[in-house]
Amino acid sequence: MFCIECGSTDKKMIGEICIDCFLKEFQMIEIPENINVEICSHCNSRLEEGKWQESFIPEEEIIYRALERNIKINDLVENEDINLEIDQMKGTIANCLVEVVGEVYGVSLDETHDVSVRILKTVCPTCSKIQSGYYESVVQFRADSREIKKEEYEMANEIVARTLDKQVKVDKLAYCPQIAKLKEGYDYYIGSLKTGRKIAENLKEEFGGIIKESPRLISEDKSTGKGLYRIWISIRIPEFEIGDFIEYDSKIIQVNDIAKNIVVGNDIKTNKKQNIPLKNINDIKLIKKACDIQTTTIISISPRIIQILDPADYSAVDLEMKDEFNDYNIGDEIKLIKIEDYIYLIN
Ligand SMILES: [Zn+2]
Ligand SMILES: [Zn+2]
Repeated sequence: MFCIECGSTDKKMIGEICIDCFLKEFQMIEIPENINVEICSHCNSRLEEGKWQESFIPEEEIIYRALERNIKINDLVENEDINLEIDQMKGTIANCLVEVVGEVYGVSLDETHDVSVRILKTVCPTCSKIQSGYYESVVQFRADSREIKKEEYEMANEIVARTLDKQVKVDKLAYCPQIAKLKEGYDYYIGSLKTGRKIAENLKEEFGGIIKESPRLISEDKSTGKGLYRIWISIRIPEFEIGDFIEYDSKIIQVNDIAKNIVVGNDIKTNKKQNIPLKNINDIKLIKKACDIQTTTIISISPRIIQILDPADYSAVDLEMKDEFNDYNIGDEIKLIKIEDYIYLIN
């Protein structure tokens, strides 16, 4: 056997050529001379193998990883040791050295490759959505049959901001590009549906009320026939507020608290605590506001009768004495509410 390249006959042969001729052309690794890495200039995510990765890593590390990903080692190489080095940075281009030592057919080799890694600053799909004002849901903050108060708007804004702060850790589209301040209430435009729903839930937690979703078809993908929907989520808070008087199940109840799913109050005839599920809101009737409560003076007290002055005409009115008024004395002021010409004392 002789080498068809150099004619030598005394060397280890690899097929038809000697090992020296074989190794002259041999490369242990393949790596492109130019590598591009895309990084989002807004959020620092990077495009790796077609997927945007969010976790932040320093630029140097991004370059090293790009080099590693692009190295192909020949199967014949054994005991290889690859050393990566950033020689110099020129603007967004890193000139790098890739040094390889290894063995092929028992022969130790080393080789060096010059590679430039270019960092391309672009905008990732999420950031481009954010920039374009994209939104998937609109949370409509409304009240039932009344205007929303300034403090309620302030509280709602705070809840929206707090929810976004929390959600942005798990949802990049947790942002509010716009708040439309309408006469009937605020519309919060929310990047994702998931976070829109969370906000509505948190508003409900604070104010009580009813959530309703209505999807609207925004556009249609002509190729697939699939619709793109945007979801309007309305949260309608009750007409009645804490301190108000409502009628439910033939009882008159003063509202003490409105929670996520329940209204808590006192039956003003029996002074018994009442819990009303908010889902029955349609059976709840507002009868008097807290601001309708009046004050009057007690003129006499007996074991069974408490006599007060009617603030309307200062006539004396006898009312049934109850345990909860035991601590009152003649001359004390006491609160009352008039409902359908009947006077109820309030402790
Ligand atoms: Zn040869
Ligand atoms: Zn981004």
